[in-house]
Amino acid sequence: MINRRIVDDYVRTVEQFAFLPGALDALVSLARRAPKIVVVTNQQGVGRGLMRTADVDAVNAAMTDAVVAAGGRIDAVLVCPHLAGTCRCRKPLPGLALRWLEQHPEVDGSRSVMVGDSETDVGMGLALARHTGGCATVRIGARSPSPTTSFPSLAEYAASLD
Ligand SMILES: [Zn+2]
Repeated sequence: MINRRIVDDYVRTVEQFAFLPGALDALVSLARRAPKIVVVTNQQGVGRGLMRTADVDAVNAAMTDAVVAAGGRIDAVLVCPHLAGTCRCRKPLPGLALRWLEQHPEVDGSRSVMVGDSETDVGMGLALARHTGGCATVRIGARSPSPTTSFPSLAEYAASLD
């Protein structure tokens, strides 16, 4: 819920990346509250041979630079480049976040918050809750009733914390 999606395709280049309205300001606002901000992203286009890892890295670097330039922070971008069903890290599996937590023992995963806009994000959040004993899940843009807290946009979630 950070950037615009491209229908039936992937964001392959920096030029194709565009923040959703309010998302950049929301990330800046969240940076004031969250000790760590970690983005977890499925990039199956790599596994399908449509993009290179370097393309994904370039887009993520540009995104991070833009957030920093605005006064915010992204501490890590965790990427699953694999095809669905071939790994332990593609969301909704929690592998990427769990490995990052292992590498950052100073972070208490049970006090973390998963914020996402898709069923796979919610699935990862619920899995993290089982593994850490406490991760909260916030759904952005949910149209149907959901067992999790939800907000219309990342900006409105960030504003709710102020
Ligand atoms: Zn993976």
